[in-house]
Amino acid sequence: MTEGKEIPSIGIVGGGFSGVLAAIRILRDFRTSGQDVRVTLIERHSRVGRGVAYGTDLESHLLNVPVSKMSLFPEEPDHFQKWVAEGHPEAVGKKFLPRKLYGKYVYACLAETVKKQPDRFLLLHDSVTSWSEAGGKGRLEMEALGGEEFNSVVFATGYRNLKIPSELKAIEESHRLIVDPWKHGVLSSINADEKVMIIGTGLTMVDVTLWLLAHGHRGGITCVSRNGFIPRPHRDVNGVNEENPFRGKDFPTALSLFREFRDQLSKLNSPADEWSVSIDFLRTESQRVWIKWSIREKRRFLRHLRTRWDIHRHRMSPELYENWNSHRLGKRIDPLAGRIVNSKCLPDTTEVEVMLRLRDGMSLEWRGNRVINCMGAQPDHTLFNGPEFLRDPLELGIPTNAVGNPLRGDGTVLENIFILGPALRTAFWEMTAVPELRIQARRLVEALLLRG
Ligand SMILES: Cc1cc2nc3c(=O)[nH]c(=O)nc-3n(C[C@H](O)[C@H](O)[C@H](O)COP(=O)(O)OP(=O)(O)OC[C@H]3O[C@@H](n4cnc5c(N)ncnc54)[C@H](O)[C@@H]3O)c2cc1C
Repeated sequence: MTEGKEIPSIGIVGGGFSGVLAAIRILRDFRTSGQDVRVTLIERHSRVGRGVAYGTDLESHLLNVPVSKMSLFPEEPDHFQKWVAEGHPEAVGKKFLPRKLYGKYVYACLAETVKKQPDRFLLLHDSVTSWSEAGGKGRLEMEALGGEEFNSVVFATGYRNLKIPSELKAIEESHRLIVDPWKHGVLSSINADEKVMIIGTGLTMVDVTLWLLAHGHRGGITCVSRNGFIPRPHRDVNGVNEENPFRGKDFPTALSLFREFRDQLSKLNSPADEWSVSIDFLRTESQRVWIKWSIREKRRFLRHLRTRWDIHRHRMSPELYENWNSHRLGKRIDPLAGRIVNSKCLPDTTEVEVMLRLRDGMSLEWRGNRVINCMGAQPDHTLFNGPEFLRDPLELGIPTNAVGNPLRGDGTVLENIFILGPALRTAFWEMTAVPELRIQARRLVEALLLRG
């Protein structure tokens, strides 16, 4: 441990999954390597370690990644499974567990780590409003507690509020439009008989429809997206070659990647499911391929392949899919493919009208009570919007180097500032799920250890 030397201090902004993971890893790895450190975690809400993903109270909101891949530590792949076996025997043997149980695991790991060095960890409940860098230190300004300096700062601020499509602006003021379905208590404000339209048909839509139905919703639920694609379920596919056909291959363009992908599919039996298998193979190579692409290729990928990538890459557990699909087959959910053309509040009623142009060319005037925006959250880069920072032309997140140091406009890096979480998609593309975030957290702590 450090003797006669100032103990390095690390401030972490955001106590969702990524911020808590960073705190755990820093405390564990510094201790293991005999270095002293103080960690201050700043979270504006009361709950820690849950964030948007693991803060749900609904048992049927399941993880979309199998239990075997959800350990917090890549070097201890069975850590989560062991924790489950020790304290939750009822969950042993299940492949996809409730997200709220995972939130409990993350929090338990933090508590366990802090117990070993309580004087090295401080949790503050406050909101960081701005920050600056001077003399090799990062200074955070908090809303209530004022300013504090740290040797290094990790920003793990996750997702920000969603943007409203301009076609829905006309109903924004009516409070009939729910902009952020994750906002605490907002779904409870929907009356069980109200007719609901959900914008978006991805995993957020699945979460919201299941929440409504689990809470006794009786009104119609229509969901709409441009192509109407619904995320695929995970499946155990037999007879697939175990060897990753994409390993180590170079794909100079998005088109070359697509061609190789299509060739691989043609060698398989049922392309609908094997898309998912091939994407799992490709996923292990995706960061390497993304880093080499020009902005033009990245833009092409996003324009032409992103939607298909998303539905096959971000899959549901089979149980969740069966649950959702049974409601669809029972006509409780009506998915549509089309685009919103306009919207308006209807006078003297609590109803709104949304005009749609369906994919088959038909027009539809939907009348109902609530519209919920489920188009997916964007990484929060509000604390990095200043003119000194490099901007991401693709608006995926915050431009950084490989360890997560943000880049200035002149290409230099902010060496004592780090980003962890989905805002790293600019550099890596794949930086959303636990399997990627836990590896990145290890990289981040290795860089912090080198700084001493
Ligand atoms: C619904 C959903 C389900 C998912 N399911 C899975 C899954 O099954 N498996 C998987 O591997 N991945 C899953 N993911 C992906 C992944 O785990 C998440 O992307 C991850 O939780 C991101 O966590 P985060 O901490 O970066 O962001 P968040 O969870 O958004 O946390 C950010 C935190 O920062 C705080 N904060 C923000 N700004 C400030 C500020 N200025 N001052 C103080 N505090 C601040 C916020 O209050 C929040 O608590 C899921 C994601 C979602 C959205």
